[in-house]
Amino acid sequence: EAKTQGRGRHAFFDVDLRMRTQRRLQLEQDLREAPRKGELWLAYQPIVDLRTDRTTTVEGLLRWTHPRYGPISPVEFIPLAEESDLINIVGAHMLRKAATDIVELRTRHNPDLHLTVNLSARQIDDPRLIPAVRDAIRTTGLPPGTLCLEITESALMRDPKIAAATLAALRDLGVRLAIDDFGTGYSSLAQLLTLPLDTLKIDQSFVAGLGQSKDAEAIVTSIVAMAHAVDLIVVAEGVENPLQLEILRDLDCDQAQGYLLGRPVAAGELKLG
Ligand code: C2E
Ligand code: MG
Ligand code: MG
Ligand code: MG
Repeated sequence: EAKTQGRGRHAFFDVDLRMRTQRRLQLEQDLREAPRKGELWLAYQPIVDLRTDRTTTVEGLLRWTHPRYGPISPVEFIPLAEESDLINIVGAHMLRKAATDIVELRTRHNPDLHLTVNLSARQIDDPRLIPAVRDAIRTTGLPPGTLCLEITESALMRDPKIAAATLAALRDLGVRLAIDDFGTGYSSLAQLLTLPLDTLKIDQSFVAGLGQSKDAEAIVTSIVAMAHAVDLIVVAEGVENPLQLEILRDLDCDQAQGYLLGRPVAAGELKLG
């Protein structure tokens, strides 16, 4: 009996694996056509200043509505795009689109609105990144200082030398730089602090623990203190409830982002009061 059960389970996993492989291959193939077919779009999530309670920045987050599978999370398709040159094509495309959207939102709602977008490790290593950023700024007229580029610790540490050179070149364009998902990597703090960063985003896993564990509070306290000591703006990610927000205010965090303050939505649905 145990034997048949074992075999049954095996077969189940085989089917599961085959389905996942099939989906992955299909998505990889379809992603190539997605930009041209207009299936990729950008959602924007507000980032709120904790002193003024106003939205100062929006983060552009890529979305893919697949004709057959429906909405696909960037957690699934960004890694697929990163396996090929596709990430660079999609990245340049979304940068220009985001800059265009923000110029319009600035005209309509808030002349001071800032934009932040994510960069992948593979984009950092690509010589076409700098021209793509320059192009997005020039063709839209977005002031460079209102554009921030987010990079995760792990992307920075893949090749610290190349990353440092790219960041310096981006800085020369006048754009700002943020470290994303801070606390999830294994980078040396000393190494990070040599980079020309403006903002540090505390990963949502630490924010989730606020109000629940004293450890989380102690970690966030020390991240804020350390970041402020080197003049970085601190943003807390993944704020979902009022208690977390209250604690973050008490801990002197500068800005917050999360479902409590606003979910990622299409540009036209943003509330920028
Ligand atoms: P990220 O840059 O850390 O973005 C924040 C993610 O947390 C977003 O997920 C957002 O929807 C989610 N989030 C925001 N507030 C909350 C909250 O209160 N609770 C919870 N549980 N989650 C919250 P999303 O949109 O699925 O994006 C996931 C990741 O995909 C991003 O993480 C980013 O690393 C990557 N990504 C998204 N768009 C792009 C892009 O255009 N280019 C690149 N290279 N990566 C992207
Ligand atoms: Mg981000
Ligand atoms: Mg993040
Ligand atoms: Mg994240």
